[in-house]
Amino acid sequence: MSGNQNIARVLDGTAVAADIREALRARIVSFGAKHGRTPTLGILLAGDDPGSALYVKNKMRTSDDLGMTTILERLPESASFEEALSIVERFNRDASVDGILVQSPLPQGMGADAEQKIFEAIDAEKDVDGFHPLNVGRLVQARAPLAACTPSGVIELLDRSDIDIKGRQAVVIGRSDIVGKPMALLLLHRHATVTVCHSRTKDLAEVVSQADIVVAAIGRAAFVKGEFIKPGATVIDVGTNALTVRSDVEAIFGAESKKLSAFDKRGQVWCGDVHPEVACIAGALTPVPGGVGPLTIAMLMSNTVTAAEVRYS
Ligand code: NAP
Repeated sequence: MSGNQNIARVLDGTAVAADIREALRARIVSFGAKHGRTPTLGILLAGDDPGSALYVKNKMRTSDDLGMTTILERLPESASFEEALSIVERFNRDASVDGILVQSPLPQGMGADAEQKIFEAIDAEKDVDGFHPLNVGRLVQARAPLAACTPSGVIELLDRSDIDIKGRQAVVIGRSDIVGKPMALLLLHRHATVTVCHSRTKDLAEVVSQADIVVAAIGRAAFVKGEFIKPGATVIDVGTNALTVRSDVEAIFGAESKKLSAFDKRGQVWCGDVHPEVACIAGALTPVPGGVGPLTIAMLMSNTVTAAEVRYS
């Protein structure tokens, strides 16, 4: 990579997320003035996963900073599915809870389909993750007040970065229920021509190279190479992959890179699904970290405020 110049504009998700949060403050104050309480998010954190604990801590800190309320319920790794369900049902009945978040993943002992069952048990009006089948159906029909946070954040980022969506060719790589599929629908509703790629897609690089907007949500470090990208395209990197092997960091980022220095200090660095060489070809690119991640939390807050407002409308 040395000698190449990064030409891509950096799409700063941290700054856009701060703007989204600031815009929420007035709505939160207005809700408080009308209803005598702040929008409230009930969170269920089950199990010992350190990543989940950190995500929940960040969500609670953001909510506190906005003057919203969170109620955290914790369950041990050994908890049963019924215990998790009873907490969700209590949040459903509690009139002071506007939004419900069940932090994924649930402990394995709860069963293979526990997450799907628990998401279905959440009152759809309080489903701030947008995973309930009713909200997914509404999303298909372009009338969802609560859509999945990560793809919604990507649309906000494109809009607030003045990147046109209408009439553009968009390729989404990944077809998960939480990122790829809702992303494709949101882009479609904004009048992009959308192609969804996955692990069985033939000639992936060729398909992606047609795109004006590429969203990579795969979960494989540096998978999307420069040759996939049409010069000047907008590339949104949703992937968050932890690199824990020094030679991997060196192979992807180079021996002189800041990432390698960071790895030598911390023993781990984050890497997106997009190879850093793409910065020499794309017109605009999200960094990892500092791109899509902060937007996901901002949109969770936004969905919680929306859920609170909609319940009283
Ligand atoms: P997922 O459920 O594992 O889905 C990955 C998708 O990538 C699948 O549809 C899979 O295809 C596809 N895929 C895998 N290998 C591929 C290949 N070789 N070629 C083409 N497609 C391939 O993952 P996810 O939950 O959507 O998350 C994706 C990434 O985004 C992860 O790194 C995750 O950590 C990150 N993420 C970040 C945020 C954030 O806020 N920044 C939020 C959510 C997720 P098949 O369907 O054919 O298996």
